[in-house]
Amino acid sequence: MILDRFRLDGRVAVVTGANRGIGQAFAVALAQAGADVAMLGRTEPAATTEAVEKAGRRALWLPGDIATVDHDGAIGRVVSEFGRVDVLVNNAGIIRRAPAADTTAADWREVIGVDLDAVFHLSQAAGRVMLRQGRGSIVNVASMLSFQGGIRVPAYAAAKHGVVGLTKALANEWAGLGVNVNAIAPGYIATDNTAALRADESRNAAILERIPAGRWGSPDDLAGTVVFLASDAARYLHGTVIPVDGGWLAR
Ligand code: NAP
Repeated sequence: MILDRFRLDGRVAVVTGANRGIGQAFAVALAQAGADVAMLGRTEPAATTEAVEKAGRRALWLPGDIATVDHDGAIGRVVSEFGRVDVLVNNAGIIRRAPAADTTAADWREVIGVDLDAVFHLSQAAGRVMLRQGRGSIVNVASMLSFQGGIRVPAYAAAKHGVVGLTKALANEWAGLGVNVNAIAPGYIATDNTAALRADESRNAAILERIPAGRWGSPDDLAGTVVFLASDAARYLHGTVIPVDGGWLAR
């Protein structure tokens, strides 16, 4: 039955940055759909763990900074604890706001390191396991700035454009081997990542005016899409980016 294809019973998902924001909503949604969830991040995801367990699933925190962690080691720990890796959601990300002329080399490297380099290294580590299994789904988190340049966020725009290129490149290699690689491009979602924008009255008004849905998104608005992309219902989707943006890109 079609709704059964959206279920993730018996699957094992890895979500980065699941202690708050969008990653938390992803982890809880995947658990509610049936998956056990390993969470790779710097901060213990206590509330998310509670929600995953409340959904009747197992939760595991893998402590680590995604830029510097041993990526194969982290994925190997998931395999040794849960036996397999079916889903990787590359969610954790950072943003640094400054005019391009003033962006420091350190900020540039940090953003590229977390938002792009780590996405590749984790996808490679999880992808090797999925290729051995002959099955798996990788869901990358892109952005409106995968399509647009944004304002005063040059490293973030470059990294998020890169995430889309990487999504397509991996999909081209792995689609025929049972591994789906796709991305979600969230619109403007109310999290800590966008707190500065919402605090700026004129930017906030300009953003709201441009969103056809007329409101900021919530992390929960993305939950259905991540479950879909992680599931068999999306088995013929490869290398695609799904905007969940209240209509932003339609303007
Ligand atoms: P957020 O509320 O700022 O949360 C970011 C998460 O990433 C936190 O869990 C954070 O962990 C984790 N993280 C950051 N750097 C990390 C590192 N080096 N190692 C491990 N974990 C790290 O952000 P969000 O809004 O939920 O964003 C999640 C993703 O969606 C990001 O990729 C972001 O670019 C993307 N996105 C967001 C929006 C939006 O409007 N909010 C729009 C488009 C795309 P700590 O709590 O330990 O810092």
